[in-house]
Amino acid sequence: MAGKIFIALDRLTLVLDKLSEKIDLWIPASLQTNNRELTGFVRRHAGMVAILDRQSTLPPKKILLPQVETLLRFEHRKDPQDPLKVSVSLDDKSEVRPALVFGAHPCDVRAFLTLDRVFTNGPYVDPYYLERRRNTLFATLVCLQEDAACFCSSVGSGPADTEGSDFRIIPVDGGYVVEALTQKAQSLLDSLGDAPTQHQEAQAMQVVEEVAKRRVGDLDLTGSAEAFRKRFEQNDYWQEMAAQCLSCGVCTHVCPTCYCFTITDEIENLRGERLRSWDSCMFYQYSLEASGHNPRPSKLNRYRNRVGHKFSYIPKKYDGLIGCSGCGRCIRSCPVSIDIRQIVGRLKENACESK
Ligand code: SF4
Ligand code: SF4
Repeated sequence: MAGKIFIALDRLTLVLDKLSEKIDLWIPASLQTNNRELTGFVRRHAGMVAILDRQSTLPPKKILLPQVETLLRFEHRKDPQDPLKVSVSLDDKSEVRPALVFGAHPCDVRAFLTLDRVFTNGPYVDPYYLERRRNTLFATLVCLQEDAACFCSSVGSGPADTEGSDFRIIPVDGGYVVEALTQKAQSLLDSLGDAPTQHQEAQAMQVVEEVAKRRVGDLDLTGSAEAFRKRFEQNDYWQEMAAQCLSCGVCTHVCPTCYCFTITDEIENLRGERLRSWDSCMFYQYSLEASGHNPRPSKLNRYRNRVGHKFSYIPKKYDGLIGCSGCGRCIRSCPVSIDIRQIVGRLKENACESK
């Protein structure tokens, strides 16, 4: 049977301090940026407070897929006897420490299932992602309070979903019952706290049961992938949907399932680094080819690609998996209030076969 502990609210900081001594601990915390109230996942240092009462503005994606990461370092060496002879040395060693993500929401943990398929399950395995994935545990908060942008139940998840989680954090009176769901989690849980009382355990079970019954979001995705294919060449439809879009890329930046990246070399003298950085399919330059041709030159093409990728291409390629976790961040963050639910929902209205 899975182990459980109770963490009282006034002991949470102490417990997180203890955990930080054992493992790289990431928590949702305040990001002080230009006076805007942003929250995101940060590597915790002593005394830092976890913000667990709302979904973070930014998802924990960067923990497994950093916004910028060094893939390798290289150095050109010239033969002092013959400068035309150049050798290149490469160093792609990286240090990955065991990590725990504490307080992610079910939608964020589920989002990694999409990244897993892309980076670890195809013909090419990404060793950088895979190494971090193997070394990272997730302690997922049972989500008590959705907002108007959430729709996790519409994509096959829900506010009590534990898929991909190693621990479940259940809010109860005066604190949290934390339950280990995997063997690795169990060994970390020992020594962090006392077992919950019978009352706390019963309350935790009741919270989970009640939350699991809640349906968050009413988007019906049945037949959406087919409707997208039928709509594909209806440019008027996509023109209308993307008319307001600014191509700012915010929706992709905040999205836990978006993974577009670009590779650049930064060189100084004869030494350099190869970097991988997040990119966005909403940018004109993303699909611009060296010849000058751009297969997705307009907002219409790019927005259609974003919708199709999440709700048609990924489900087709990965056995029905929807490439969206219903977190609602793109809806909250879009500066012109484009709502992906409305666009996907309207796919089925009067959709007819493309010629
Ligand atoms: S956030 Fe909104 S405006 Fe910006 S690229 Fe996405 S859909 Fe377009
Ligand atoms: S598409 Fe929007 S709702 Fe879906 S996972 Fe990305 S940010 Fe969340």
